[in-house]
Amino acid sequence: MNRNALFPGSFDPITKGHESVILRSLDLFDTLTIAIGINAEKKYLFPLELRLNWLKTIFAGIPKIRVTSYEGLTTDFCKKNDIQYILRGLRTSADFEFERSIGQMNKKIYPGIETVFLLALPEFNALSSSIIRDIYRNGGDITPYIPDNMQLPPVK
Ligand code: ADP
Repeated sequence: MNRNALFPGSFDPITKGHESVILRSLDLFDTLTIAIGINAEKKYLFPLELRLNWLKTIFAGIPKIRVTSYEGLTTDFCKKNDIQYILRGLRTSADFEFERSIGQMNKKIYPGIETVFLLALPEFNALSSSIIRDIYRNGGDITPYIPDNMQLPPVK
């Protein structure tokens, strides 16, 4: 049986922290789907199409990675796509508390799923998409914190 994993997130924008979790997880799974969750109540800075294109370009050379987006429950997406593992990254105890309740609820809703956590590398521990958005909005250089060769739109 294939071990299929999902890395769900907003990736608004993807950071070197996300990239590191993705690359470090690859030996654990046969396939990894990176999927942008669309939450109608959430406002995003970068358009969905751009976030998808970034992911597709960054991971284009890795055959076991697939990139897509989804609406609705993460567990429903997993059921429909034969995914048994949800991958998440942990930076802080706040991440842990947040992830624990989601992970435990997901397991209740869909017992066929296991959540797998990778600890952030220390050098990426302080990286978050929200801080990077702040730097970008205020005209700062975010290229040290995001994967190489990402095309950024001009700041509005
Ligand atoms: P969400 O909107 O679901 O919080 P994010 O795109 O912010 O999605 O993050 C997706 C996953 O990546 C989460 O599990 C988050 O904890 C993890 N993550 C975010 N930043 C880092 C980082 N710097 N190092 C490791 N994991 C991270």
